[in-house]
Amino acid sequence: MTHELLAICDTCKKPVADGEGSLWVDMTEVDQATVNRRAWEQLATEQLAPGIHGYSAESLMTYPKSARWQVHHVACDPAPDANAYAIDVHRCRSWADLVLWTAHLMGKAWLSDTDWEDLLEAASQSAGSRITPVVPPTLNH
Ligand SMILES: [Zn+2]
Repeated sequence: MTHELLAICDTCKKPVADGEGSLWVDMTEVDQATVNRRAWEQLATEQLAPGIHGYSAESLMTYPKSARWQVHHVACDPAPDANAYAIDVHRCRSWADLVLWTAHLMGKAWLSDTDWEDLLEAASQSAGSRITPVVPPTLNH
């Protein structure tokens, strides 16, 4: 069976074959990103002038970093003992897989504190890192 999507290892930049690695996020990093975001929202809200809704461009500059989804061969994983939420690469080989994972992950309160959105955008643009298509897809955006 041919794959539509490749998983590219963050460490060695080579594709990860089925059974040899995963797409994962460090849940400790996710928890920290959640804490940072809540603190940011509280501070940004306190700084709002009465009657003003929405955050200023200035405060948005300091919006905390989200947790980064990573791809690694088991042998290349820099943090094998991390508290990881991991997706084996063989379970994310088609666009349909990626859509289904997205639907599943959208049920997690913490998804927005990760860079899943960036991962999807990069995949659709065939950026060549993490999850990227074998054949660049038609994009009608
Ligand atoms: Zn590797």
